[in-house]
Amino acid sequence: MDRPQSRVALARCGNYQPEVVQAAVERVLSNLEPLPLPAGGRILLKPNCLAASSGPDEPINTRAEVTAAVGRYLQAHHQAELVIADSGGIGTYDRAERVYRRMGLDRVAQELGADLLNLETLGLKQVQGRTSLVLPSFRVSRVLDQVDAVVNLPKLKTHMLTGMTGAVKNCLGLLPGSLKRDVHIAAPTGRLMSAALVDIFSAIVPALNVLDAVVGMEGNGPSQGRAKELGLIIASHDAVAADYLACRLMGLDPGAVATVTLAHQAGLGAAGPAEIELVGAQWDRLPGVRFALPMSFQFRSAQRLLPPKITGRLMARLLEAKPRTVPANCRACGLCVQSCPAGALSLQEGTVRLDRELCLECYCCLEHCPDQGLRLPRGLWDRLRPGR
Ligand code: SF4
Ligand code: SF4
Repeated sequence: MDRPQSRVALARCGNYQPEVVQAAVERVLSNLEPLPLPAGGRILLKPNCLAASSGPDEPINTRAEVTAAVGRYLQAHHQAELVIADSGGIGTYDRAERVYRRMGLDRVAQELGADLLNLETLGLKQVQGRTSLVLPSFRVSRVLDQVDAVVNLPKLKTHMLTGMTGAVKNCLGLLPGSLKRDVHIAAPTGRLMSAALVDIFSAIVPALNVLDAVVGMEGNGPSQGRAKELGLIIASHDAVAADYLACRLMGLDPGAVATVTLAHQAGLGAAGPAEIELVGAQWDRLPGVRFALPMSFQFRSAQRLLPPKITGRLMARLLEAKPRTVPANCRACGLCVQSCPAGALSLQEGTVRLDRELCLECYCCLEHCPDQGLRLPRGLWDRLRPGR
């Protein structure tokens, strides 16, 4: 019988009370010992700090309680010296301190005696991944030169472009500021973006991944969806295996999530029950709940199933999912214009305008709009009527 290649541990975590999170984190990490971390090493805790505008109760950023619990465990059991850092989206450029404060990471850093770093100020270095599916080389934060290992702390969410965001995708945050937009320009489709994310992940390969799946996001994630309780902490040294399990728990076919399939094909991690040893659950009795898919992802799946000859102009229009503007909500802040890799957005007469011809359907704008000034089209009429 083949031996499993990777171990994934999960534990119930019913809420974000610090003692409840601490107990769940202790359970999953002790089940993964010995952790592949150097004793006394300098460890980067890398949460998902996507949006400065979102408070802790919105299911967008990794909760500070998870970062704190993992930090305490690593200090107690591995004598770790801790660093905390992430770079969010366009709305957080030059505003790392603001998002850290909003999330409560300043208090966590103080409690742990950790360095809380702004990745926008540390400089960059050129790296090559183990794969070069889309990106032969790229620049990442020099924080990687300052630490012995990365501990990845993603928030479990659906994602309009890639289906889901978990451990593999969370590595994108180590490309500060506008480097993320450069990746979207190099990889303008969901499939290419997933391949680029695998390239980035393959250059970083976190030593450990602990997913905040207590309250995730369903629907139009990573920032416009709805809260969805899963009540779990998931951990593994193998990011691909953790994401594979996360897909299964969300009711999402892992075979349709290219970050999982491409990373698995490249030998970067395990996927499937035959390759993954589960601790804390059984494959035939997984405790998951079905997450609603992002609308864009549903249509992309349908597009793949249809014979090419019926995907004519009308069908293309029906299946396209370019954002719609919502002028009543738009405060003309310009964040979406800055984030758009295609130059498809502009501010005119105090509101945002979309050039449909230029739009790549990458959804950076929806991720970064703090005011629901953009949305995905809903229903047949919404698709057929002229967009703005
Ligand atoms: S308008 Fe939005 S979805 Fe279209 S390319 Fe720009 S950022 Fe991407
Ligand atoms: S749509 Fe949103 S992000 Fe864009 S300008 Fe309006 S409020 Fe700002």
